[in-house]
Amino acid sequence: MKIARLSVVVFSIFSCNVLAQSGLTQSAYQELPLGAAKPEGWLKDQLQIMAIGSTGHLDEVHAKIKNENGWLGGKGDGWEETPYWLDGAVPLAYLLDDPALKPKVLQYINWTLDHQRPSGYFGPITKDEREKKTEITTETCASGEDWWPRMVMLKVIHQYYEATNDKRVIPFMTKYFQYQLAAIKNCPVGKWTEWATSRGADNVMMAQWLYTKTGDKSLIELAALIESQSYDWSTWLGNRDWVIWAATNQTDEHWMRRHAVNVGMALKSPVINYQRTGDEKYIKAIKTGWNDLITLHGLPMGIFSGDEDLHGNDPTQGVELCAIVEAMFSMEKIISVTGDLQYMDALERMAFNALPTQTTDDYNAKQYFQVANQVEVSRGVFDFSLPFDREMNNVFGLRSGYTCCTANMHQGWTKFATHLWYGTNDNGVAALAYSPSTLKTKVGKDQHEVTIKESTNYPFEETITFEVGTKKAAAFPLHLRIPQWCKEASIALNGKILQTETGGEVVIINRTWNDKDKLTLTLPMEVTTSSWAKNSRAVERGPLVFALKLGERWEKGTQEKEGDYFSIYPTEDWNYGLLEMIVKDPEANLKVSTRPMPAKFVWNQKVSPIEITATGKKIPEWKVANGVAHQPVTDRNGVYKGKVHPEVVTIQLIPYGFTKVRVVAFPVVK
Ligand SMILES: [Zn+2]
Repeated sequence: MKIARLSVVVFSIFSCNVLAQSGLTQSAYQELPLGAAKPEGWLKDQLQIMAIGSTGHLDEVHAKIKNENGWLGGKGDGWEETPYWLDGAVPLAYLLDDPALKPKVLQYINWTLDHQRPSGYFGPITKDEREKKTEITTETCASGEDWWPRMVMLKVIHQYYEATNDKRVIPFMTKYFQYQLAAIKNCPVGKWTEWATSRGADNVMMAQWLYTKTGDKSLIELAALIESQSYDWSTWLGNRDWVIWAATNQTDEHWMRRHAVNVGMALKSPVINYQRTGDEKYIKAIKTGWNDLITLHGLPMGIFSGDEDLHGNDPTQGVELCAIVEAMFSMEKIISVTGDLQYMDALERMAFNALPTQTTDDYNAKQYFQVANQVEVSRGVFDFSLPFDREMNNVFGLRSGYTCCTANMHQGWTKFATHLWYGTNDNGVAALAYSPSTLKTKVGKDQHEVTIKESTNYPFEETITFEVGTKKAAAFPLHLRIPQWCKEASIALNGKILQTETGGEVVIINRTWNDKDKLTLTLPMEVTTSSWAKNSRAVERGPLVFALKLGERWEKGTQEKEGDYFSIYPTEDWNYGLLEMIVKDPEANLKVSTRPMPAKFVWNQKVSPIEITATGKKIPEWKVANGVAHQPVTDRNGVYKGKVHPEVVTIQLIPYGFTKVRVVAFPVVK
């Protein structure tokens, strides 16, 4: 048995810029094809809910997709929402092997592949094509339309290819990128919208992916050209002027550069540039940019604020659902390229905390903006940087707020499920984010097929079991992430402890595996507290952040333009400060209780398998005003000095992801 430290391996990759066979700079880990890892347990329950709910049926209930869809040749919407939906619905169809969803999504892919113009242009019939019968060529590229929705569709088609190896895809993309290279000089990235200028990295990423398949050097030329015409996020993220400016400016000056969805997408930009250039400045840029972003705009549930713009770290700020799912996808790319554990922890923090709270149990309604300390869900202006005039941003609805999230939210869980596992450069596999799953892949020098069944209720329990299935003994390394929050992990093989490991590294277990070998990873989760804005504290345990459990009263309403929606109010008081002794010694003063996982999992407080009992005192003057619970100010020792009710009250905390109304960043009281 040999256990090596990955940090050494990663370091050597960065210092010599090895060029992989693919032609791009060697990544620390390789993404596996869609479907190599299949969800199990609670994660499968979550995906099945989505298939029954809006992910499986958005085309039946959302007018922009339902009516004369441009991506099926109709006169209806041909912009971003159909590709957004498919970006989650395609992986869902293949992860669940869903016999109804696969043919449904295939209609859009087939229409797109079948209606590529002779020049290589693709997508909905444009206004000029319809009205003037213009043929779109590189000379008449102005008769084409916005590059941006095509960037999303390329991601959709890429995933479809990974799942099916459909032979039409490579020639299709080759032809499109040839068109784009010729056209983009006359019709630059930002010709139609600033969205395309803001999000060029997605286009660059797909051109570079095709390069790994075909080796056609013109794709690298195209990638560099698109990057040069797009916003220079890599420089901005690495340069503190941008983040300082973004933290202080709230005007419309260059607001697209503070738009949280753009920022979430842009996080992957430096690593995509690193792949093409091998320049380590890009790895430093994302490190600086991510740390600055979380320092200045970070919220306890693991995401930066964005309502719609970056808006500081006060727990009264909100975040758009699109920003969460895009930041997650960026993390999944960054993990692959850098192998840096910080981003693996960050991905889980978003997935297990920020993501689940923002949709309903049936996945048919979402919030445009969630708020960290969300003491009511209602119509209102709140503290948002873009309130919109119908005051619908915070309520749960299919179409409330803005419908980008209605279409884009489907990629969050589906791509998380496809990025639990990665391939390694030493012919092994890596479990870098944990959730129940079964991996089927080829490993070792002889590319022998194995299965690895990952059984766990993580993040709700500390133990993860990996059972190997193989027809013959197979030698390959298994990389396992030991999260930063874990003080000492233990690894056992077939019931016998092999090794203990300190948190904050990826360990490599390199051995010859036999059929039914069972590796058990135990990640002890201590209760801790963390510091947030206005000197508030949050309670954490492992990858989960905990929030005050409150009874909920749901109220249904209808808005003329945005349809049915729900408001949610707490049925009990929420204005508690956390006792100081909890901050001083969380382990001694917080009691963790667990109960079995439900037969069918859902992110609803009624089935929360874990709860923490804490103590607090009421702060009578802490009240809601226009939907917002402005954070009480504490002294530098972190203690609230205003009036506090003398009675000590027992309060219950549950994982943030199970709450709809809550307090997560608590003031501290004596
Ligand atoms: Zn959105």
